[in-house]
Amino acid sequence: MRRYLGFMKEAQCGCGALRVQVEGEREAVVACNCTDCRRRSGSAFGMGVYFQRSAVKFIGEAREYTRPTDSGNTFSTFFCPTCGTSLYWWGSRDPSRVGVAPGCFEASEQFPPDRSVYDVNKQDWVSFGDVPGFERGRDGPRTR
Ligand SMILES: [Zn+2]
Ligand SMILES: [Zn+2]
Repeated sequence: MRRYLGFMKEAQCGCGALRVQVEGEREAVVACNCTDCRRRSGSAFGMGVYFQRSAVKFIGEAREYTRPTDSGNTFSTFFCPTCGTSLYWWGSRDPSRVGVAPGCFEASEQFPPDRSVYDVNKQDWVSFGDVPGFERGRDGPRTR
């Protein structure tokens, strides 16, 4: 698998008021086909690149939307109050990790997915090639 070294370390919302700067390597890039990620992103699936939260600096004012999850935890999305871009998020199950929207980095092509999840909801035209896939979470059955 291709690995990108020296990736651009800053991501920003559409208007630039909300930004993050990351230190260290990403832990994973995940494409999620679940209904909530579809709605959050407004696309066929949502993508997130995950870092240790302690390695991420948050700059600018964010608004927070928190929703319950299927597993009884909560999931919080942080978005720019001016332009509405969802820039980062975390779940109460593991709040030490933060997901950042890969498309908000300058070189968004540096983050191809390491796995896809909730493939039960995947639209037929979407293909992730030979990237590992899971029916739901990565603790459960594989689809690829
Ligand atoms: Zn903005
Ligand atoms: Zn999802």
